[in-house]
Amino acid sequence: MKNIFISFLLIFMTVLIFNNKAEANNMKGNFNFNTKTVKLNNGYEIPLNGIGTYSLLNDVCYNSILYALQNGVRLIDTAYIYNNEEEVGKAVRDSKIDRKDIFIITKLYPNQYNNAEKAINDALKKLNVEYIDMMLLHHPGNNDVEAYKAIEKAIKEGKIRSVGLSNWYIKELKDFIPKINIIPALVQNEIHPYYQDTEVIEYIQSLGIAVQGWYPLGGRGHQKELLNDKVLKDIAAKYNKSVAQIILRWNLQRGVIVIPGSSNRQHIIENTEIYDFELSDDDMKRISELNRDEKHDWY
Ligand code: NAP
Repeated sequence: MKNIFISFLLIFMTVLIFNNKAEANNMKGNFNFNTKTVKLNNGYEIPLNGIGTYSLLNDVCYNSILYALQNGVRLIDTAYIYNNEEEVGKAVRDSKIDRKDIFIITKLYPNQYNNAEKAINDALKKLNVEYIDMMLLHHPGNNDVEAYKAIEKAIKEGKIRSVGLSNWYIKELKDFIPKINIIPALVQNEIHPYYQDTEVIEYIQSLGIAVQGWYPLGGRGHQKELLNDKVLKDIAAKYNKSVAQIILRWNLQRGVIVIPGSSNRQHIIENTEIYDFELSDDDMKRISELNRDEKHDWY
């Protein structure tokens, strides 16, 4: 009897693991390299590549975002704490691109969690757009469940379309998800060749949640080391691409959406030209071997 029970348990666990892997592959498989988008678990589509705006301020931010939009970028990542939501919103409006074709992500910071409803209204006012495509919680903090519920309410009211989390890992997700109603559509975490976090990525994808990587190039101040990595340079030469493009493409092939930050016009365009080549399994493996579990920020 005991043996039958153990066999049953083993079969059950194998099916469960297989299903999780299948879901993860599915999320990755849902990346559409023709439309350059992926469908989220709530039916909305998000572009596979965008532009990050951390440390871009005032005119530098406005000009970079406007230039990115004029050159095909349709996903913008900002946050209350970046102090540039106004410039992002102005660039979106001035681009004259149909609002529905642009995907804006912003984030509440922990010091806003105890008054999230007001913070959401403030973000809408600063961005000066009719709705926000996605609101994330920047990282875990006091009252994060309440803040998340305020976003859920704003979704019902049509102020926000999707909700997600940033800097939530396996344990944090296991604790958090049972306390909320809407499964996050996306988790945004630090991901680059020196901090690959594969187990976390696969776990998030197994829940049908999209993964987005911040600091794809290692982060401002760290990017030089990654961009001069010998292995990455070797691979870049082989495909006649830049190291940045190799890293971004590697992310896409792992099912990770990318939001490189840039205020350099040449870089902004370069970071979109990542759909006309494919890294071989062997080169994907060479990059996977560069992992050092080396985080470049504390979240
Ligand atoms: P990053 O994208 O890893 O690197 C940006 C740096 O790389 C800048 O110095 C940029 O300089 C340079 N760069 C960009 N494209 C390049 C290219 N093609 N060739 C050479 N250099 C290039 O760092 P990041 O901007 O800090 O991170 C990306 C985004 O993630 C942020 O902007 C932000 O939206 C988000 N983020 C989120 C969190 C979070 O906790 N949720 C934390 C950090 C960041 P140039 O301006 O000269 O191009």
